[in-house]
Amino acid sequence: MQPVTPDAPFLSVAFRNKELCTRSGSCVGVCPTGAITIGEDLYPRLNTDQCTACGLCGKVCPGGEIQFAELSQQVFGKVPTDHSFDGQVAETFVGYATDTRLREGGSGGGVATALLYHLLKTGQVDGCLVTRMNREKPWLAEPFIATTYEELCLSQGSRYSVIPMNRLWSELRSREGKFAAAILPCHTHGFRKLQQHEPELAAKLSVVIGLFCGGALEPNLTTEMLTMRGINKDEISDFQFRGGEWPGQMRVLFKDGRPPRPLHYSNYKEGAYIYFTSLYMPERCQTCLDGSNEFSDISVSDAWTRNETGDYQFRKHSRLLIRTEAGARVVKSAVDSGDLIVKDVTNNPNYMTHKIQTRRKGYMTPVRLERWGKAGRPIPVYDRHVPADVCRYDRVKEFMISSLLRAGRNKLFRMAVMGFLTSRFAIPLIRLRIYWKRRKYRGRNSHARSRVADRTTTKG
Ligand SMILES: Cc1cc2nc3c(=O)[nH]c(=O)nc-3n(C[C@H](O)[C@H](O)[C@H](O)COP(=O)(O)OP(=O)(O)OC[C@H]3O[C@@H](n4cnc5c(N)ncnc54)[C@H](O)[C@@H]3O)c2cc1C
Repeated sequence: MQPVTPDAPFLSVAFRNKELCTRSGSCVGVCPTGAITIGEDLYPRLNTDQCTACGLCGKVCPGGEIQFAELSQQVFGKVPTDHSFDGQVAETFVGYATDTRLREGGSGGGVATALLYHLLKTGQVDGCLVTRMNREKPWLAEPFIATTYEELCLSQGSRYSVIPMNRLWSELRSREGKFAAAILPCHTHGFRKLQQHEPELAAKLSVVIGLFCGGALEPNLTTEMLTMRGINKDEISDFQFRGGEWPGQMRVLFKDGRPPRPLHYSNYKEGAYIYFTSLYMPERCQTCLDGSNEFSDISVSDAWTRNETGDYQFRKHSRLLIRTEAGARVVKSAVDSGDLIVKDVTNNPNYMTHKIQTRRKGYMTPVRLERWGKAGRPIPVYDRHVPADVCRYDRVKEFMISSLLRAGRNKLFRMAVMGFLTSRFAIPLIRLRIYWKRRKYRGRNSHARSRVADRTTTKG
């Protein structure tokens, strides 16, 4: 057998263009000989001596190419003529877990974990593909298969970090039974490709709960935040991205029982999310067009709906988009058995879209792809392009965001900006932002009330 060279075109894209790798772990999980492993930077490594050139890693790779029409046909049996950010949706709900621990521990209403636990306890699945912080190195997130309530509790909450979930497929090969997963859009893309090329292995995963995703973050965010706050990483027992009171704050827990320490002053929503995504979003996430996990069975997002006073209307709730029959069955079964409480908002237009994300994923990202393509930078191949009604504002804003992200690759710049934005000197800025947001919503909602009764607004 000829030795395989790492730039062979049938291998996953990471080996030719690292920038296009999503670090989903799909190539690692599908490799039948274990020739692909994961490095500390979470990019795959190839042992050419073990590679049999089967090409499976290239076929399931979600990094280099996504054909939305083909995946729509595969999952829904139809291709919509128009495209919305939310994708194909049968029903929309907002809801929360009835189990207090699951609701309290969740990033939103604990819905993702409540659905997984419902599937587990009713014997519909034997395990769940989820995430947790590593026990020895609690600043690192990792995927694992949970089989008990306690393990699911460990997995709760969003970890805004790149996690190679699909490497767990290699464990599924050797395990009997059915499984469910809570995963990001890039993981779902890899899974849908797995269904095309390794249907027997893919059939073990019977339900995909897809998280919305505005972009994951580089894993070094956690260690840099600890350095900025002068915390020795060996002293911490856990790192929470959204710990404490909803909507949560990045914070650490200590081995010696000291009270939890927040790492910034704003909460997750009023500032922090913007700082982090503007400085730590990986290059491949900047070119992703799928923010609503369009090919999952059920998509789950935050429910950032504000009422007429500018307050959040659904505190500690999640929003659910039911996409497939399998998804509808799971939610119905969880609601019927009392594990989930939901409110049907299917016909309420205010819940149909995340306005900021729609603009980012639907307009600015295609503009970025066009710009990078013209500049000769590697970009993924898509069958979606810049919409005809893109405006100059989208182009200018995209350019500014891209420039900030590029500057963020310089560690000194990143640390200086983050150091300031997460320090107490930034508190006036946070207050100003909260004041401005409330004013904006109050004005918008009082104006809207005169037109439509019970008007509310959903934002991403
Ligand atoms: C990187 C990232 C970006 C997101 N961006 C948005 C957004 O822009 N808008 C929005 O509305 N919502 C976004 N979400 C989803 C949101 O943060 C909540 O996860 C979602 O609302 C579910 O909340 P819950 O309380 O129902 O879930 P929980 O019950 O708290 O369960 C969360 C589940 O997510 C899994 N999980 C956590 N982190 C990851 C990860 N990095 N990769 C794979 N699985 C993970 C956990 O293992 C757990 O199973 C994002 C989530 C992530 C991880």
